[in-house]
Amino acid sequence: MITASVEETMDLAARFVRSLPPTSTIVALSGDLGAGKTTFAQGVLRACGATPPYTSPTFTIMKEYVIPGGVFERVIHCDAYRITAQDMLELGWEEMIAAQNTLIVVEWSERIAHIMPQSAIPIACAVVDDTRRAYTMREKL
Ligand code: ADP
Ligand code: MG
Repeated sequence: MITASVEETMDLAARFVRSLPPTSTIVALSGDLGAGKTTFAQGVLRACGATPPYTSPTFTIMKEYVIPGGVFERVIHCDAYRITAQDMLELGWEEMIAAQNTLIVVEWSERIAHIMPQSAIPIACAVVDDTRRAYTMREKL
């Protein structure tokens, strides 16, 4: 799927969220810097009804949004760029992925591939040109 603007990427993310069953889900975003991972994650957050600002967790590693009454009551946006899988485990990864009603979106998931559960939904992001980004996912939305 190729998007031609940030808004199209946010819309794609919203369609993706609507395609999910209402059970805890992990989204494994991969791709280089500028590939549109944060933009996609922000679209997920908006579609889930999280309260902005949707600041990129590159420095904070993870940011949690609590959404009372939402399909997902908790959305966690993580960025594994600056950390190792070991760090993630120390931050409570196992508990996080076992929690109910939780949607977890991980940027740079390829860096912690061996702790990503088999059930995680992979989405590969890539730059096409100045305004276009490619999102490769299992399901066609
Ligand atoms: P990453 O998290 O993968 O580093 P970001 O989402 O932070 O990527 O950055 C993507 C950049 O690309 C932003 O500056 C955004 O404005 C730009 N961009 C251009 N076209 C698109 C598009 N179609 N979808 C998403 N971002 C786009
Ligand atoms: Mg990012």
